[in-house]
Amino acid sequence: MEFLIGKLLENYLINTGLKEVVEEGLKDLGIKLEDLYEMDPDPGLGNGGLGRLAACFIDSMASLDIAGTGIGIRYRYGLFRQLIQNGYQVETPDNWLKIPNVWEICKAEDARIVKFGGNINMNWGGDGHLYVELEDYEPVLAVPYDIPVPGYDSERVNTLRLWSAETENSGFDFSEFSKGDYDRAVENITTAHSISNVLYPDDSTPRGKLLRLKQEYFFTSAGLQDILSRYLKGGGNIREFHLYNAIQINDTHPALAIPELMRLLIDEQGLGWDDAWAITVATFGYTNHTILAEALEKWPLDMFKKLLPRIYMIVEEINRRFVAELSMKDGYGFDRIAKMSIIGDGAVKMAHLAIVGSHSVNGVARLHSDILKNKELRNFSEFYPGKFNNKTNGITHRRWLIGANPELAGAIDRTIGTGWRKDPGKLTELEKFIDRGFSDEAYAIKQNNKERLAGYILKTTEIGVDKNSIFDIQVKRLHMYKRQLLNIFGVMDMYNRIKAGNTSGMYPRTVIFSAKAFPGYGLAKNTIKLICTVADRVNSDKEAADFLRVVFLPNYDVSLAERMIPAGDISEQISTASKEASGTGNMKFMMNGAVTLATLDGANVEIREAVGDDNIILFGLTSDEVISYEQHGGYDPYREVRNDSRLEAIISQIREGYFGFAGKNEFTPVLDHLLKDGDPYFVLKDFDAYVSARDKIDGIYSDRSRFSRMCAVNIARSGRFSSDNTIAAYADDIWNVKHR
Ligand SMILES: *Cc1c(COP(=O)(O)O)cnc(C)c1O
Repeated sequence: MEFLIGKLLENYLINTGLKEVVEEGLKDLGIKLEDLYEMDPDPGLGNGGLGRLAACFIDSMASLDIAGTGIGIRYRYGLFRQLIQNGYQVETPDNWLKIPNVWEICKAEDARIVKFGGNINMNWGGDGHLYVELEDYEPVLAVPYDIPVPGYDSERVNTLRLWSAETENSGFDFSEFSKGDYDRAVENITTAHSISNVLYPDDSTPRGKLLRLKQEYFFTSAGLQDILSRYLKGGGNIREFHLYNAIQINDTHPALAIPELMRLLIDEQGLGWDDAWAITVATFGYTNHTILAEALEKWPLDMFKKLLPRIYMIVEEINRRFVAELSMKDGYGFDRIAKMSIIGDGAVKMAHLAIVGSHSVNGVARLHSDILKNKELRNFSEFYPGKFNNKTNGITHRRWLIGANPELAGAIDRTIGTGWRKDPGKLTELEKFIDRGFSDEAYAIKQNNKERLAGYILKTTEIGVDKNSIFDIQVKRLHMYKRQLLNIFGVMDMYNRIKAGNTSGMYPRTVIFSAKAFPGYGLAKNTIKLICTVADRVNSDKEAADFLRVVFLPNYDVSLAERMIPAGDISEQISTASKEASGTGNMKFMMNGAVTLATLDGANVEIREAVGDDNIILFGLTSDEVISYEQHGGYDPYREVRNDSRLEAIISQIREGYFGFAGKNEFTPVLDHLLKDGDPYFVLKDFDAYVSARDKIDGIYSDRSRFSRMCAVNIARSGRFSSDNTIAAYADDIWNVKHR
């Protein structure tokens, strides 16, 4: 449902190998390629990691010569643009289509109708098949816009097909439209139109809104109709559909595709239930992205039934058969079955639907997959042994190294040749050159990138920062579990030490944040205000100038990530252990030679395995410890504060407005979260370990050869986090499809 693709022009030139030719040609016209890059819009058609992963995946599929299509929504407005005013986040609309999108091609001839609401008309045909038809439904026209996805050094050009809800279209047959309730359709022109109007800005927390459910059915129904009709037009046999089509659902947002395929196979192709079900399960794979309980999608039954009556009927029957199957097995009593049911607690549980309707369920990093299998989804993994597997996320090195850090890419070429561009596993060949010049060269390039970022920071925030300080960066969505709060607590402690004249061993540091918060997520917004408040105080204090600068860059998006990540010395990956499914920002930083400051969470575990304990800085509770506290209690945040005078100081400073605030009790939400509400993400518990870990970095950084060596090892071992590897594993283990 999300594809956070970033700007396309540069990626197109890299993948087609046309960059040099175009650069030369433009020179004759007096046009600089960089100026064109600037004009290219950055489509914000996703919230964060999940949507960015989908974008890396379609790039890798094309580059591995796998025929594949990304199916999503052409949102009229992408993720909001963030302004920071007086330290507060202000959201403004992302009107990215104001200038026509030159990279898309409207395929009006492939438009489809998606049917909402209506009444079900059933009758038994003479052939014993139950024929089901919808009447008086609200038809919505789905029009696809295709964005090309060229592979790197490959003949293949795949497609990202984004569906737009439209109400009029010249190439469209209105007779089909009028089979529905035309009057209501006309009356509802504004609502129909609004389906693809805007991306919901929630990252990991669905809001259960009717329009969101409409969006989910809209693009899955259009997508499935499209897949099926192409397959049949190409002469495919419907009973072999699953042998030629694999559909991977990215989280549960597209899980309605499962009952939708059942509907198409049964109602439109005349298959019986059992045959349709076998084909459906063999077709789908489901990728789970989170274990946060609040992130699991549940749709209220009355809403679901009314909007999607036929789909609801099919889900009920899927569940009836599933429950019957469970009850035939030993060890599945009432309680356990109730926990596993697709329909329960007045809602349709989309994760359960996705698990039951797929032949593969995967997590996105080893730790995450293990927690799914052994804890969160244990009931299911015991019932379906063999269905559960891991596919650790990855990133495309074409955008995140070749595109974002051309200087480093050039240095790698000069050191080991260009083979790594096609096969990023070859980055390991750098290893033997680390102490023969490569680490020094990478360090010098990093300094250049830091200087460029410093220029951008000055331009956008008027804060001057020193490229010789440690660039310590945390960029990702603002979420309590990601613990930007821990970072800013560390900053406040540093500031207090500076004010106390206690600076021995302290290395100058620039702490940089960038993050969007969900507009209705009060705690997240309060955290942004706290960061900006602390930043203002620190940056205006001459006494702190030699040691500390704090920057919050507004409007984190793919383009800003490409600017910031190559300039990072330290990559902050400090989520509460067990909460971050994988992370991909961690991999981008690693590939650009930053040292990770990490908890043992998500793919950080595998990064540690790749680089070894000497080349990563670890701290904090383990996931087992966190889960144990959650299950058995025993954590008291008040005790942490009582036993640590640094925390005591910080908390009373925040309360008293020492760092400055706009109104009374400005930061009560954050303080209540940490104390009264029990500090659910263990910020105070991990504070001491975090501060020590940062102090350790100061020592390491001041030894330039040691630090630059660590950075180089990270680059050399980052190839395993290429999304090409991830996609090869999906192709081999889940899709059963050949690849380069
Ligand atoms: C990579 C990326 C993310 C995901 O970052 P995490 O640190 O893994 O949460 C989010 N937003 C953008 C713009 C990204 O490029």
